Amino acid sequence: MNNNSVTVKALRYDTGEPVVVTIADGCIRSVETIPDASRRPLAELWIGPAFFDVQINGALGKAFGSPNVTFEDIAEIVAECRRHGITRLCPTLITDSEANLKAALRRLSRAIAEDRGLEAALPGIHLEGPYISPLDGPRGAHPRMHVRRPDWEEFQRLQDAADGRIWLVTLAPELEGAIRLIERLTASGVVVALGHTAASGMQIRDAVAAGARLSTHLGNGCAAMLPRHENPIWEQLAEDRLWASLIADGHHLPPAVLRCLLRCKTPLRTLLTCDASVLAGLPPGRYRVWEQELEIVPEGKIVVAGTPYLAGSWVFTDHCVRLAMQLGGATLKEAVDMAAIRPRQLLGLSISWLEVGATADLILFRFDEQGLPHIVETFVAGKSYPAAEGIETARENL
Ligand SMILES: [Zn+2]
Repeated sequence: MNNNSVTVKALRYDTGEPVVVTIADGCIRSVETIPDASRRPLAELWIGPAFFDVQINGALGKAFGSPNVTFEDIAEIVAECRRHGITRLCPTLITDSEANLKAALRRLSRAIAEDRGLEAALPGIHLEGPYISPLDGPRGAHPRMHVRRPDWEEFQRLQDAADGRIWLVTLAPELEGAIRLIERLTASGVVVALGHTAASGMQIRDAVAAGARLSTHLGNGCAAMLPRHENPIWEQLAEDRLWASLIADGHHLPPAVLRCLLRCKTPLRTLLTCDASVLAGLPPGRYRVWEQELEIVPEGKIVVAGTPYLAGSWVFTDHCVRLAMQLGGATLKEAVDMAAIRPRQLLGLSISWLEVGATADLILFRFDEQGLPHIVETFVAGKSYPAAEGIETARENL
């Protein structure tokens, strides 16, 4: 056995079978199913595919879209995500001026190009806005002054600044020119998501016909009061060609709504996202973020200070997996699949995780007394990162 190889004994998240997995040179070298069920000395250690989150804005006070973000900040956000089982993510930029977006995209793209570790961690950028609803409610915490109409020429300039790394765009299909933009984005290989929208049923159906494939954080980015029948949530729920991302952080969606959305979309068409804010992971208190005063309240949510309006999430994807199980009624396999497999499928990436030759992007976890999983260790291309929760690493090296 060579020096950089690691052997792990754990139970598969999907079948419960005990396996011995050998990892070397970043890849899975062997997988052996332990035939004798009595040989389960590590019955509590489980193994699964690492998470992929399509919407992370930042963490620990650093944001991908900040005008002052440094390469070190970007690496720090990625490192924090790894401690929560997330090995890949779409760095997300929200509505801003063209000049600021271009500057942020250039910086991100340069950082990614210069560091192979970052390139693997940040395969594609999510542009959330600026072509979203200007209305209070659907617009959420996006700045009104920078919301604008779809503009293919501008998008191309942004995509150039990003060196073609924008993979996902969230927009509102009711805006003038949106359907044509969806067609062009789709033809250029960008995945289009609907979000921050007050669209009619017809506009949503037109968007899907034009190529839209995802509802971004369905149930949020929407008017607080809606007509009971004619509203964008029903229409998106009823449209099976649209997958949905859900923020299962315990604050964005009440448990009954989370359960209903999951039943309609099913785990086969649902992605879990944390939509982590720039303030994710920081202690409670008031923070000034660019021109906005935000507050982390003790129960673990981030609001625009003095208002009930949520401004992104304080937790990471591992917490959303637990809540999808606890509040949403998902099984372990369903919850992990929604956080690890579905995002890769949406973006056309490989979903093989425990096959010989596959990149070793893995999580090891244990269950707490409530039967909810907690990350112990994350492998990023075979390299080990301990969890954020301080649970001692108990992997057995053979
Ligand atoms: Zn949003």
